[in-house]
Amino acid sequence: MSSIRQKGVAKANPGGHAEESCARTEQARRRPEARTSTDTEMRAPDTVSPETRATPMMAQYLDVKAKNPDFLLFYRMGDFFELFFDDAVKAASALGIQLTKRGKHAGEDIPMCGVPVARADDYMQKLILKGFRVAVAEQLEDPELAKKRGPKAVVRRDVVRLVTPGTLTEDALLVSGRNNFLVALAKTGKGAAARYHIAALDISTGEFLLSEASAPDLGGELLRLRPAEVLIAEDELGDEASKAAAEVSGAALSPLSRACFGRAKGERALREAFEVAALDGLGDFTDGDLTAIGALLHYVNLTQMGERPALRPPRRDEPARLMAIDAATRASLELVRPKNEGAPTVFSAIDRTVTAAGARELMSRLVSPSADASLVNERLDAVAALIEDWALRERIRHILKTAPDMSRALSRLKLKRGGPRDLGAIRDGLRAGSEVATLLAASPAQPAHLKEATTALAAFTGDELGGRLARKLDRALVSVVPLLTRDSGYIAAGFDAALDELRELASSSKIVLAKLQADYAARTGVKTLKIQYNNVFGYFIEVSPGQASALMSEPHSALFRHKQTLASAVRFTTDELAALESRILTAQGDALAREQTLFAELSDAVLEQEDAIARAAQALACLDCVGGLAEVAQAQNYVRPRVDTSRAFLVEGGRHPAVEQALVREGGAFIGNDCRLDGAGERAPGFLVVTGPNMAGKSTYLRQNALIAVLAQMGSYVPATSAHIGVADRLFARIGAADDLARGRSTFMVEMTETAAILNRATERSLVILDEIGRGTATFDGLSIAWAVLEHLHDETRCRGLVATHYHELTRLADDLPRAGNVRMAVTEWKDTIVFLHAVESGPANRSYGVQAAKLAGVPKQVVTRAKQILAQLEAGAGPHGPLTLPTDMPLFSAPAAHHAADAPHPVLERLGALDVDSLSPREALDLLYALKKDLQVTDATG
Ligand code: ADP
Ligand code: MG
Repeated sequence: MSSIRQKGVAKANPGGHAEESCARTEQARRRPEARTSTDTEMRAPDTVSPETRATPMMAQYLDVKAKNPDFLLFYRMGDFFELFFDDAVKAASALGIQLTKRGKHAGEDIPMCGVPVARADDYMQKLILKGFRVAVAEQLEDPELAKKRGPKAVVRRDVVRLVTPGTLTEDALLVSGRNNFLVALAKTGKGAAARYHIAALDISTGEFLLSEASAPDLGGELLRLRPAEVLIAEDELGDEASKAAAEVSGAALSPLSRACFGRAKGERALREAFEVAALDGLGDFTDGDLTAIGALLHYVNLTQMGERPALRPPRRDEPARLMAIDAATRASLELVRPKNEGAPTVFSAIDRTVTAAGARELMSRLVSPSADASLVNERLDAVAALIEDWALRERIRHILKTAPDMSRALSRLKLKRGGPRDLGAIRDGLRAGSEVATLLAASPAQPAHLKEATTALAAFTGDELGGRLARKLDRALVSVVPLLTRDSGYIAAGFDAALDELRELASSSKIVLAKLQADYAARTGVKTLKIQYNNVFGYFIEVSPGQASALMSEPHSALFRHKQTLASAVRFTTDELAALESRILTAQGDALAREQTLFAELSDAVLEQEDAIARAAQALACLDCVGGLAEVAQAQNYVRPRVDTSRAFLVEGGRHPAVEQALVREGGAFIGNDCRLDGAGERAPGFLVVTGPNMAGKSTYLRQNALIAVLAQMGSYVPATSAHIGVADRLFARIGAADDLARGRSTFMVEMTETAAILNRATERSLVILDEIGRGTATFDGLSIAWAVLEHLHDETRCRGLVATHYHELTRLADDLPRAGNVRMAVTEWKDTIVFLHAVESGPANRSYGVQAAKLAGVPKQVVTRAKQILAQLEAGAGPHGPLTLPTDMPLFSAPAAHHAADAPHPVLERLGALDVDSLSPREALDLLYALKKDLQVTDATG
């Protein structure tokens, strides 16, 4: 790691404070040795007048920094990466490490902080997660060499790597079970006709996707990919849709100059990346695609210092073939990201994969359910096959547990950032792959998807190229492979004759060394004489101080040369030992160099079969995903859904995958519920209005049906006793709108914006789930809006849908509209309280339960009684079909019993009733009005 030779034992820095961060403490402790290489550089600020000019080192720093203004510059100094100026201030606060200062620049202290090189990955990860980008400037020469150029010479340094959230490849910086996409957005067209072209690349796996979205769909599309970083043209930074979409997806937004976006650039970059003369073989590309690809590959080239990443041929995610799920729906369904940190998600409920690549595949299917019934059925066939043959599944999953992440290893090797462990990962992955292929080949019935996987894996079994590579790696590597190339010993004995010879030389010299030690001990009579080794002196002879005199006097002084006297030992060397040492070191150095050559050769051999290996890795991921789906289906009693292009939505005994598991863990049971939304037959509803008191299970019911559609269309079994789903092209789910205060919008505005999105975009094939529509506003507003929205969805959109509401009035809508029906959450009364049965029944709910729920919740009796009265009044004339009036008399403090409630008419009314208006003079009429008004106040105050 450090190119600096150790110059002595580092002492703990006595000035270190206990409360210092671990980075700083470690830095303080290691400071003396860390500084050795750069002492001259660092002393300069104190000796040169600080006011005048930058020290040579600072000049170099400023020069490198000027070339990378948007990056935090990690500037290598010995065993540390140091940050200066603003970078230091930002990084220290982001990392919670101490900010110090070092020297002066232009008369001001230079803020500084640093992290040890050995732990730089951890710190870098923290910074990246917070959206920073980091430029790593390394020492490009041995500091000793720099010193030879003169006392003021500075070690040559330059940026060797730009680390950005979207271009990571190190396992330490990545989440293993999740893709890490870099996305470039190119906008074409204006206003409502604007299209956003998306090019997405996970350079850690080589997955390369293209897609496209309109402005309203962009948020959902980005949330589907969950990119770590989004590239956008500088002049589009103000674009509302891009900004909002990047924000909901949580990605860092990196602006690029407009010049990086260009059709011709994209075309050239693609041709170079795939080494083809024409793009025809790769697919059809629109101008928008190529513009986005141009920016994407430009940025990759920039951050990877020209190294080409592994790149699979681009796959187009046709919006028409996916179930479109917008951003709000993704958030409310909690598919992969919970609303509250640590809460279960649908992903966590169904994930039974055993490899990181399998988890990524599962996640990718879950966030991109298909709208293509035949693809869904092919996937379901594969799951069915592994449910049927559970023994095969068990054996495959057992083997998969030994399969490392081949695609990420391959990507690192491709970017020349790989190590022996990555070769080991390919070896183990191919080995697992061929074992699985053998198993699968022997199994009789194979659906298309498993067959495909078998073929991809079988490529590494026979006598062909793949098989030869697999066997070569088997022979070449030791069983447990170290991480880095500088850790020698990873090439197995017997693989390479030249390497074996060098190793033999080194180890035989060690035997000679042992003989030499015995010989010297015998000759001098010092039995405790030892030959030792350290980094500073190399090999030396060591005796205790008491016995040193024997070696320092005749005749032995002719042989032993004194080197060093310590309190505990005296050290010597001899010509013979020096010669032996140089032989050992040379042999070791040569062996290491030979290993590195072999590493490079093996790496090349692997990369020659990059595509085939990537396909094998994908096959393993697919098998793991399918095996995991089979596993969860069997363990949780899921059923294979019938998926077709009908308009059916028939679920029997449906459950919520995550709520069910949580309930069962606590010893409870989930009550399964049916849902019929087929719209077939005379009055079979395409729309259900769900009513019931709070906590009865309305939201859960709505959500579970949305999730059953998602699971079915991703190709999974579903939590139900039977299910028939005609594919939905779009899913809209609004569940529990929350205030989006961060973006300055009230609940109501959020809800209306989302409602508008649904009304504008839902089609006849869509599934719409609305929970508590119109809740965020005054009763009449909310009710009227809800009513109108439902009418529209029913009459115009004609989609399938579920609506939960506390507006009892909406149940009347179901009576009026032919395709709408009412269901209620069953509750029963027991000892004056209500019990939730969580069962769905047909018909509207008995509305008084709301008041009962208030009672259950401990609302004072008086209030509950009064609420019942008001309810009775409302019921007498409620709804758009009759005059609906809220009671105008709403005393705050009067006890209900004392109130002239509905039983007796108000005295003022009585007087009015008895009045003969025609007999009054205008003056009398006015007096009477005053009197009545006074009466009214008196009765109400005493009332
Ligand atoms: P609502 O929307 O009607 O207020 P929720 O859907 O939020 O009710 O459900 C309240 C709670 O009831 C849930 O947290 C869950 O624990 C439980 N619950 C809901 N549906 C069921 C069910 N089908 N079986 C068992 N428990 C359920
Ligand atoms: Mg609810």
